[in-house]
Amino acid sequence: MTKQVISPFKILSKDKKTKARVGKLYTQHGIINTPVFMPVATQATVKALTSEDLKNLGAECLLSNTYHLYLRPGTELLKKMKGIHNFMKWDGSVLTDSGGFQVWSLSHFTKISDKGATFTSHHDGSKHLFTPENVIDSQMKIGSDIFVTLDVCTENPITKKKSREALDTTKKWAERAVKHYHKKVKQNIKKTKTGFDVKNPLLFAIAQGATFDDLRKESALHIASQNIHGYCIGGLSTGEKDEDMNRAVSVVIDNLPEDKPRYFMGLGTPTEMLECIERGVDMFDCVFPTRIARNGTVFTSEGTINIKNNEYRLQNKPLDKKCDCYTCQNYSRAYLSHLFRAKELTSHRLLSIHNIRFLIQLMDRVRKEIRKGTFSKFKKDFIKKYK
Ligand SMILES: [Zn+2]
Repeated sequence: MTKQVISPFKILSKDKKTKARVGKLYTQHGIINTPVFMPVATQATVKALTSEDLKNLGAECLLSNTYHLYLRPGTELLKKMKGIHNFMKWDGSVLTDSGGFQVWSLSHFTKISDKGATFTSHHDGSKHLFTPENVIDSQMKIGSDIFVTLDVCTENPITKKKSREALDTTKKWAERAVKHYHKKVKQNIKKTKTGFDVKNPLLFAIAQGATFDDLRKESALHIASQNIHGYCIGGLSTGEKDEDMNRAVSVVIDNLPEDKPRYFMGLGTPTEMLECIERGVDMFDCVFPTRIARNGTVFTSEGTINIKNNEYRLQNKPLDKKCDCYTCQNYSRAYLSHLFRAKELTSHRLLSIHNIRFLIQLMDRVRKEIRKGTFSKFKKDFIKKYK
């Protein structure tokens, strides 16, 4: 019987009016201050940015993808390069998702069986099998700090019967992944005077169940019963109504223990993040800020703007006057508008820097507001201005 793991998560402050909290998650590669936004380094890079840029932006943890890295450059290559940190010269934390979502969303052919998910590569059509066990092995070769168990993702909307079937498989796969992880990873986490000393990768499992309250509850209780360090909320932000998403988040969180981190997979607009922080979510990732940056769209405290619009061509002021990012400190809207219109690659880089820093600054601010006991007011004021 494996001993119950220690979750290296320390809650520093809780909001009195909501379920928002401030915490520190300790990994092999340092501390992640929560609530946190994790930039997405799909293929061991955040598009248009270097690892040094990400460090300067204040990123503490990057999200990378097992599916993508497994197909290219390959997990064996990453192992030979001594893992993703050495490969991409990043010394902060890395969380890898299991590939369940990409198998479902990117592959042209996916077959789910008890054994695992058979899929074809979106690059060359070659056939592959992901099992709960080999996905853990892949994450070990990648060398990430936080592993995620393989799950079955489903379309939205979905029938209850199909969601039930997918959840049953997700539960079985999570149990197999947890068992395999404990066979391979010796737990070495010690409590110290100030926090934790962590010498092993952590394991998170995913709650599914679409927007069916009873399935979400069952899934949350199931992952809560597993010997793991944290919890993911998957299968949401896939086109359902905001109220359905927020309700599903609340159902999951109400059925999870307080003392471990909760991570909402693939969510990343400022207002959605604030809604979920209020409901007790600690971690976020999303490709949204960099994807919209490459289309010329940027966050500002008054909502998003698109830099290619005529009105910005003559504005000699930063994207957001309160933003401390490199782009806002050095370049005007007029220059950024010109770069974008001229299709200069520098615009991808400068707009991505701003959008990621905007979310990281927002999380810094949120942590301060929670500690001061003024989170609800801050959230209300922010959303009012942002819309
Ligand atoms: Zn900025």
